[in-house]
Amino acid sequence: PRPHPAFRVRPLTCTETRRGDQQVVHSLGDGAVHVSAARHDATFGFSAVFDAGASQEAVFEGSGMRQLVELAMDGFSCTVFAFGQTGSGKTYTLMGPLAQSEVQPASPAVLGLMQRSFTCLLEQSRSRGSDLALSASYLEIYNEQVRDLLSPGPPCALPLRWSKTRGFYVENQLSVEFESLEAIVSLLLQVPPPTGSQRRRTSAHALNRHSSRSHTLLTVHIHSRAVRAHPAPGAGWGLRASSGPSKQGTLCFVDLAGSERVKETGSSGELSVEANSINRSLLALGHCISLLAKPRGKRTHIPYRDSKLTRLLARSLGGSGITLMVACISPSSRCLSETLSTLHYASRARRVTTRP
Ligand code: ADP
Ligand code: MG
Repeated sequence: PRPHPAFRVRPLTCTETRRGDQQVVHSLGDGAVHVSAARHDATFGFSAVFDAGASQEAVFEGSGMRQLVELAMDGFSCTVFAFGQTGSGKTYTLMGPLAQSEVQPASPAVLGLMQRSFTCLLEQSRSRGSDLALSASYLEIYNEQVRDLLSPGPPCALPLRWSKTRGFYVENQLSVEFESLEAIVSLLLQVPPPTGSQRRRTSAHALNRHSSRSHTLLTVHIHSRAVRAHPAPGAGWGLRASSGPSKQGTLCFVDLAGSERVKETGSSGELSVEANSINRSLLALGHCISLLAKPRGKRTHIPYRDSKLTRLLARSLGGSGITLMVACISPSSRCLSETLSTLHYASRARRVTTRP
C-alpha cells in the first residue's frame, strides 16, 4: 500500500479575509488542486482533496482514516501525519478546535481525526466482541530531544534506542490505558506546559507558538488479546470459547512542526537552535521520503538515523507500516510559496510504497 497523501485546504480565516487576501488555491474535483497566482499556474494530483467546505467527518471518511484504524486493529503499525506550515490547519484536522478553546467543549461536528478514530476503536472493540486493550503514549520532539508529555513534572529528555527486535524505541516511555473517549481526550489536554517547570495550563497562544516548533506524537497501542472462554448468554449453551491469535497494532498521530523555513536572522541563541532542529528533522523526513520514492532496485540506504523524527517514524515510513499523510494548506495568496513547497513535498510522498 501507498501512503496516501490527502490534501486539505482550509477556509480563509477572518483576518485573512479582512485584509483582503486572495484565494489562490482551488480544488478542481477528482483529486486535482489548482494553484493560480500572478506568476504561478500549476495543477497537482492527490488521492483525496478536501476544500474549505469539507467537514471533519468528510475528511475522516474520505482520507482513508477509517481503514487505517481497522488495519491498526488487525495488527499493523499505522501512522497519520499532518504536514504544513504553521496556521495551515494541522492541529484542527487532528484534534479540531479543542486545543484552542478551554471554556467550551467542542461540538461533535468539529471533532478531529483523533477523536473520530478513538470512537471508532472503542465502538469496534465492543462490536467485535474481542478483548481489546487500548493504551496511549504521548511524546514530543523538541530541539532534537524526545520528551514524554505524560510524565508528571518538568519535561525531561528520554533516550531513543534501537534493538533488533523492536527497531527504534523510546526508553522508559509511559503509557496509560484508556477505555473511554473522555479519558483519552483529557489525557491529551492535561499535558504539562511545554517549557514551564510547573504543571499548569499554558495559554492557547503559547501552546500554539510552541506547537509550531515541536513535533508531537500520540501513539495508541491496540492489543487484542485472545478471547478467554466465557459463559454464553442464556443457560445451557456451555462455554463459547473463541481463541483468536493475539495481535498488537499501533495507531500513531503525528502533528509535525510548522514546515515554513524558520528564519535565523535576528533570532536569539535559543531560537536558532530551535530553527536548526526543526529544519533538520523536516529535511530528514523529506529526504527519507524522496529516497523511498525511488524504485526498489535503485534505492540506496535510507538515512533514518539523521533525526529523532525519522527514527521514530522509520517503521511506518519504510518498513512494515502504513502511512497516511494529510498535507494542510492555507488558500491565501500570502502563503503561496509555502503552499507550493507543501504541494511538492506531498507529491513526493505519493510515490513511496511499503510492504506491511
Ligand atoms: P496549525 O496546527 O497548522 O498551526 P491550526 O490547526 O491551529 O494550524 O489552524 C489555524 C487556524 O485556522 C485555527 O484558528 C483553526 O481553528 C483554523 N482552521 C484550520 N483549519 C480549519 C478548517 N478546516 N475549518 C475552519 N477553521 C480552520
Ligand atoms: Mg498546530
